[in-house]
Amino acid sequence: MKVLVLNCGSSSLKYQLFDMENEHVLAKGLVERIGLPGAVLTHRPGSEKYVIETEIPNHQKAIELVLQALVSNKHGVLKSLDEISAVGHRVVHGGEDFSGSVLITDAVIDALRRNIELAPLHNPPNIMGIEACQNLMPNVPQAGVFDTAFHQTMPPQAYLYGIPYEYYQKYKIRKYGFHGTSHKYVSQRAAAMLKRPIEEVKIITCHLGNGASIAAVDRGKSIDTSMGFTPLEGLMMGTRSGDLDPAIVSFLMEKEKWTTEETSNFLNKRCGVLGLSGVSSDFRDIENAADQGHERAQLALERFAYMVKKYIGSYAAVLNGVDAIVFTAGLGENSALMRVKICEGLDYLGVKLDLDKNYTRGIEADVSADDAKTRVFVIPTNEELMIARDTYEICRDLK
Ligand code: AMP
Repeated sequence: MKVLVLNCGSSSLKYQLFDMENEHVLAKGLVERIGLPGAVLTHRPGSEKYVIETEIPNHQKAIELVLQALVSNKHGVLKSLDEISAVGHRVVHGGEDFSGSVLITDAVIDALRRNIELAPLHNPPNIMGIEACQNLMPNVPQAGVFDTAFHQTMPPQAYLYGIPYEYYQKYKIRKYGFHGTSHKYVSQRAAAMLKRPIEEVKIITCHLGNGASIAAVDRGKSIDTSMGFTPLEGLMMGTRSGDLDPAIVSFLMEKEKWTTEETSNFLNKRCGVLGLSGVSSDFRDIENAADQGHERAQLALERFAYMVKKYIGSYAAVLNGVDAIVFTAGLGENSALMRVKICEGLDYLGVKLDLDKNYTRGIEADVSADDAKTRVFVIPTNEELMIARDTYEICRDLK
């Protein structure tokens, strides 16, 4: 059975086609600049790459081009579109409606629409992608896999804020958490690497990329996570502020005479390591600048590592111990330096890195010393595979 995984952003679309017999990726690619001049599809049916530049006014056209590429005589991997048995969509916000992946139905689309106000930038393109597939492949079942679903197991003391309860009831203001598919995948892999059932282990998962979040996973269930009502809370990120004293927001709005939109733009796009370092939002650039003696770049790295360390400490507290700490995503998988900085001084938790093993990049590895009580793992995340697996489980008996 072949499953197409789609991740629709506001002006981009990523896709991977899986053969679920062996979970191999048959083709993958990216459409960029949807609805903008210079739109382009990059299709990779293997190690080669085909670039198709053409007008792509909307998501429907983008998906049409992807389907054409998949069956093309020149660079296709399918004889016919009938070979696609199901489509899995990454959906950012399921609100409180979804605690797991679901078959897409009209009722599900209605619920996604209700959640648009919680994710105004993300849910509309997700819905567009689903509707485009309904038009283009009306008989193919589709599944929705939510970034928020894995964190729906958090208890109220973790997800409620210290504001009047009526605003939770009225506006659903609470912590939702994101990157759930990634936290779930790496926590499952970590349990496998520990050679123990996930129902027995306590894991802290650190998804450190341009967007960054940490989760406390207690016997397979997320019990707390650093992102909140939106992906702005928690760690300082590439361009997002992360945790702040909320009074700073009204103070700055008054001083700088910002509108709410300008303020939101500031917090999401001009803060984080970009704002602090003044160098870049990209951790590679910051590590390079710090290497050459740039003080604020160094400061940004130190503060980022410090925040991760604080979250690890607090999650070790709420978990009452930890068996493994996982590093994943661009920075977590690739930066030996950042892992060293974060793990320094965590010996009270039984963390001890093996500095040689830690010089690994982008592959699954146990980078802790042999005698360390708590294991530290580097685990490349694979959200697309998780989406494909859930879609397969939901749709396999339908066709
Ligand atoms: P992601 O959002 O998961 O794609 O991660 C992107 C972030 O990972 C960017 O800030 C990159 O600079 C960072 N990153 C990727 N490779 C490395 C590396 N080798 N060293 C440091 N940071 C890296």
